Amino acid sequence: MDEKLVKKRRIVLVPLPAQGHVTPIMQLGKALYSKGFSITVFQTQYNRVSSSKDFSDFHFLTIPGSLTETDLKNLGPLQFATKLNQVCEASFKQCLGQLLKEQGDDDEVACVVYDEYMHFSNAAAKEFRLPSVVFSTTCATAFLCRSVIAKVNVDKFLTDMKDLELQDKLFPGLHPLRYKDLPTSAFGPIESIHRLYSEIVNTGTASAVIINTANCLESTSLARLQRELQIPVYPIGPLHIAASAPSSLLEEDRSCIEWLNMQKPRSVLYISLGSLALMETKDTLEMAWGLRNSNQPFLWVIRPGSIPGPEWTESLPEEFSKLVSERGYIVKWAPQMEVLRHPAVGGFWSHCGWNSTLESIGEGVPMICRPFTSDQKVNARYLESVWSVGFQLEGKLDKEDVERAVKRLLVDEEGEYMRKRAIELKEKLESSVRSGGSSCCSLDYFVNFLRMKSS
Ligand code: UDP
Repeated sequence: MDEKLVKKRRIVLVPLPAQGHVTPIMQLGKALYSKGFSITVFQTQYNRVSSSKDFSDFHFLTIPGSLTETDLKNLGPLQFATKLNQVCEASFKQCLGQLLKEQGDDDEVACVVYDEYMHFSNAAAKEFRLPSVVFSTTCATAFLCRSVIAKVNVDKFLTDMKDLELQDKLFPGLHPLRYKDLPTSAFGPIESIHRLYSEIVNTGTASAVIINTANCLESTSLARLQRELQIPVYPIGPLHIAASAPSSLLEEDRSCIEWLNMQKPRSVLYISLGSLALMETKDTLEMAWGLRNSNQPFLWVIRPGSIPGPEWTESLPEEFSKLVSERGYIVKWAPQMEVLRHPAVGGFWSHCGWNSTLESIGEGVPMICRPFTSDQKVNARYLESVWSVGFQLEGKLDKEDVERAVKRLLVDEEGEYMRKRAIELKEKLESSVRSGGSSCCSLDYFVNFLRMKSS
């Protein structure tokens, strides 16, 4: 590092307190730390990453400000993020100001990197004349969609999105996405999503955007995004390969690894819907029937709270435990990366969160795609029709469809083809983060960009 950057060598990270956002930003912290930067993580009091030994070199600070108990109980994830932005804006400015006052001569703050949903950070960075960098935890295509949606005629967009006849048609200018694949959310009305997206993509005053993706997956969307945003865009992923950093907010049940050790190679279907998706009892039962009838072993993550009822699976009808007892293994939370890497795992039934998508492709595991909301729909469409490493299970869940889907992925030749494609992509992703690879170079360009900003 040169003289000037040696002085400006601290990077401030502001994560959104949700599993799918915390994990990649902590990985980004590790990647930047390996480039010689010190890392300060500003956390809210919700879902804090512990300063465990994995992050003992990072400095953790808390942004004061809390939501009321009623808000915490009643707000969905999107309203939670909006409220958090209101509650944290002033206090973050104060905390950042304090950090800058206390900084040493050889440890000045080089920039603020914030999760795109924590956009209050931008105002504080600007006030202190620091470069502010947006970190997107979704794919570049979803970012592009948000940017396109924020610019279209609002009234027409809102009407079109409610028009059932349009849903299977291609959305103009976003091939191969259909209206129904756009990153709208199950967590709130389309009007509030549109408002939120306008705030998120308001990158006008940001200095750069970092995206956890790789050129080999999304070169067209990346090139277009670069033109749209007119600030540098750095695709530096997949971060879980470039800089793994364990940051699970929930306790992992490792007993499933012992269970996997007893299964035949590539025979098991791993099922997980991530940290936020919900399932109805009826669908859970259809799935259990279909899985049982497929005769394939399965490891199923059922997160407490993801199905109706105060308890865990105790709240499901009695037939559930009979259906899953023979070939299934159920846990509340799994060490997902280790599971996907396990030789017994042959396929992944996923909600297609971006981390799960990258983790699955990164291990060469083909997927059954059952998106729940927002960018997951974009990822599912790309998994099926661009990367050909999975297929979507759309519409009402029905036990016969579930059985057919499991066999299609784990038994049929088509599944074998998807596995080959996934392995090809795995190799490409690995080379992109190796020295000389596109993501590795992009990270170096980002470091150079900070160097230029410091001079
Ligand atoms: N995950 C995990 N254990 C589980 C389920 C999920 O460790 O049992 C991790 C997974 O590896 C991924 C994250 O939780 O890194 C989920 O992020 P994703 O973007 O896929 O979905 P989200 O939770 O944001 O919907």
